[in-house]
Amino acid sequence: MSHLAYSYGKQIIESEDIQAVLETMQSSWLTQGPQASRFEDALCTRFGARHSTVLSSGTAALHLIGLALGWKPGDLVLTVPLTFLATANSVLYAGARVDFVDIDGQTGTIDVNQLEARIKEEKQRGSGVKAVIAVDYAGNPCDWTSLRMLADKYEFQLVDDACHALGALHKGKEICSSVFADAVSLSFHPVKHITTGEGGAILTNNPDLDKRVKTLRTHGMTKDEGLLSENHGPWYYEMHDVGFNYRITDFQCALGVAQLSRLDKFLASRREIAAYYDRAFEKYDFLDTLRTTTDGVHAYHLYPILLRQDRMKVSKKDFFLRLQARNIFTQVHYIPVHLQPYYRKKFGFKPGDFPAAENFYHRELSIPMYPSLVATDLNYITRCLIEELEVAT
Ligand SMILES: *Cc1c(COP(=O)(O)O)cnc(C)c1O
Repeated sequence: MSHLAYSYGKQIIESEDIQAVLETMQSSWLTQGPQASRFEDALCTRFGARHSTVLSSGTAALHLIGLALGWKPGDLVLTVPLTFLATANSVLYAGARVDFVDIDGQTGTIDVNQLEARIKEEKQRGSGVKAVIAVDYAGNPCDWTSLRMLADKYEFQLVDDACHALGALHKGKEICSSVFADAVSLSFHPVKHITTGEGGAILTNNPDLDKRVKTLRTHGMTKDEGLLSENHGPWYYEMHDVGFNYRITDFQCALGVAQLSRLDKFLASRREIAAYYDRAFEKYDFLDTLRTTTDGVHAYHLYPILLRQDRMKVSKKDFFLRLQARNIFTQVHYIPVHLQPYYRKKFGFKPGDFPAAENFYHRELSIPMYPSLVATDLNYITRCLIEELEVAT
């Protein structure tokens, strides 16, 4: 019997990670330096993207993507309500207008038919959609073929918030390579696939976009001789934009390189754990699991279950608390962004606006999913879940 506490996700730190951080801390560089470049090269190589920029967080990545794509007041950017706050907030940082498109309740990803209908509506009104940020919810890749087709047809910018989806494939292609989207954001927060404590990255195949985000990462400064309007000497730099300090430290990047080298091992474990859960829950009709998207290979950042509350006698909250009493700390992903008080007050969103995302929120629980879970852990977790569900029904 296990007496461990199980959270919905957590990091795996091994001695090679610690060694890499120690070595960098004893070197002459602490802030962004050679390890940052090494991490960027390793990300490009692993995912097959042409350019990558590492930064202080996934939120910073989304912020700079919006600025580099030129979002400004008056622009409309669409995303899904079933995401972390930062996805939608990145539109507000740029001063643009954010609105939502509902999800497909079976996959948790953007409903491409509703997206096209919304774009047509905007066109009829004589306005357009500047950009769409699609989220690969839980690691389940969006329908990137349809999204790319729509982006080309209606000429909007396409951003992939792939913070859940390192290693996810669509039609056999790495979605993080940015072959489908114009830019991809990643996060290295401890619950994600690989971690740097806090950290993030932007991957793109567009060299101009890459240049812009690299400048914005460091105060909008450049020393690139091709871009300077004057040159007073080797010390000379110019500011061309209002940028930020979104750099990540070199010791974090050393951790990132070490973690990235084990991503495939982590992914294999995540997929095995998911297969175990799929089998364990198959025969129970009081919960549903997500459908992997057509042509998609899931990366399983999360393992969400969807409760059939019509068949349960206790509330989701009581079920959540009963699991907690047995040391299983589930989480809910996500409270739909449009229902947050800020979004309601400022933009007038209300319950009922996006019924699929709201229904998903009422039913969803994320159960433990991280590579160090072994058979005895999984056995304990599934047994507790099924026992508490049976109590509940
Ligand atoms: C984690 C996450 C972010 C933000 O990343 P941080 O590194 O925590 O800033 C953005 N979008 C999604 C979907 C995420 O899961």
